[in-house]
Amino acid sequence: MNQLLVWILATAAALPAAFSVREKSAARHITAATLAAHVRFLADDLLEGRAPASRGSELALRYIASQFERLGLQPAGDDGGWLQRFDIIGMKSEVTTPITVAAPGGKSLVLKPVVDSVVNPGLQQAAMGVRDADVVFVGYGITAPEQKWDDFKDVDVRGKVLVVMNSDPESDPALFAGATRLYYGRWDYKYAEAARRGAAGVIIIHTDHSASYPWHVVQSSWTGTQFELPATPSEPRVTLRMWATEDACRRLMQLAGKNLDELRRAAEKRDFRPVALGVKLTAAVKVALSRSRTANVLGKLPGSDARLANEAVVLSAHHDHLGMREGSADVIYNGAQDNASGVAALLNVAEALASLEPRPKRSIVFAAVAAEESGLLGSEYFCAHPIVAPGRIAANLNIDGLNIWGKTSDLAYVGLGKSTLDDVVGAVARAQGRQVTGDDRPDKGAFYRSDQFNFAKIGVPAMYLKAGIRHPGHDADWGRQLKEKYDNERYHQPGDQIDATWNLDGAVEDVQLMTVAVMRVADAAKMPEWRHGDEFEAARKQALGAVR
Ligand SMILES: [Zn+2]
Repeated sequence: MNQLLVWILATAAALPAAFSVREKSAARHITAATLAAHVRFLADDLLEGRAPASRGSELALRYIASQFERLGLQPAGDDGGWLQRFDIIGMKSEVTTPITVAAPGGKSLVLKPVVDSVVNPGLQQAAMGVRDADVVFVGYGITAPEQKWDDFKDVDVRGKVLVVMNSDPESDPALFAGATRLYYGRWDYKYAEAARRGAAGVIIIHTDHSASYPWHVVQSSWTGTQFELPATPSEPRVTLRMWATEDACRRLMQLAGKNLDELRRAAEKRDFRPVALGVKLTAAVKVALSRSRTANVLGKLPGSDARLANEAVVLSAHHDHLGMREGSADVIYNGAQDNASGVAALLNVAEALASLEPRPKRSIVFAAVAAEESGLLGSEYFCAHPIVAPGRIAANLNIDGLNIWGKTSDLAYVGLGKSTLDDVVGAVARAQGRQVTGDDRPDKGAFYRSDQFNFAKIGVPAMYLKAGIRHPGHDADWGRQLKEKYDNERYHQPGDQIDATWNLDGAVEDVQLMTVAVMRVADAAKMPEWRHGDEFEAARKQALGAVR
């Protein structure tokens, strides 16, 4: 056969017959060479790991903005530019008074910093603490109207310190999605709900099972500098955010004449009521505060339909990584897979969609967000200052790490079953002859650990896709081990670099799927919706109501 004909057949075969002509013409722009080229620049040593506010990060911002401009997107940042600038606050704290609990008879105990407990500032100020605050056990500390669940009942917890269980009820599959962790099960929810109720502090009881990680992870992730957006006056905050080991909490309950296991059993039921422990807590910290500035890079492809162009699909990927660390021979955390590869995908999808004539009906916003590794801060800022009203954002598709291990017949959908967005993505996968599966560790709460979560919080149906594990000619274990090896040896290590072991053939199919899914959401008559009873349904109703 003629070489040209072979090439044409091979190229044609790579795109599913079930894609429309228009979808094929977009998908054709997604190539391994394009993805690799973007990654090779963004993950180069010269960018020094793209830590927020570093020179390397500024170079990444310029690069992304230049690409957006080349593709003919509209700048959607501040003042008609590409960048949405914002400040981040760094807080390095030191315990000045360890957690001290006093019982009425004069007995007391001290929870040793780091060994038994960690104490972190809830307020952005130089020093703070609580003195002789009443301590109350509040079970899971959850108020969830859609589950008809309220641990607080009518109890006033203002000024008190709450002892709270991590995770959410998991024994009943009809409650809190069974073993799957919801937002209610996350530590950030516990602190936020306590703050809404005016509590002074929160101690989360750590167990390996409920946290899905051992105590040393709490120690390491809560003892360095913590980053946040600048606090706003209207946002309620607790004074102290604390964790304690299960053993330390057992001793605290003994001091109060209570049994931790009995309390926890009572908290598994709807009729649970907060239990005043009759002991008082004192603790304090001092804080070294710092302020720096970074930016989201925002480009928009305006919709072609006069009415639907007011609505948008947001594609997001974080551009930051961990920067440089001292001590080892290779000190640069290049973040090639995490998340230069996601930004590469974002840029390649932008290229594919910008090529369409006519453009998709709804507008598409490409958001390369900052400071994800510091606590999802760029997406939090974007969602607090959205360039399109939340009720007009049809969906968020987030990319955090591409498949670098070759073709797979599956891919993992984080957030499967939560919204009708999975119907769209599932149909595109089927058109490719592939299959979408759920997250293989839903108990770990991956949905709440990357930028899509901030979109969900403002009601936007959101998801992210992770690499599959079923490689042709191998069983699923083989694929799982490949990913685990990368996670153990290179994830958040200087070794997260692009090299000859990378195979982007699977990433091409995954990014083609995203391209076509974005097109279908952008052109659909209706926007996706959360499934009835989902934890984010109420937020969506509110967002839709605000633009009606
Ligand atoms: Zn990441």
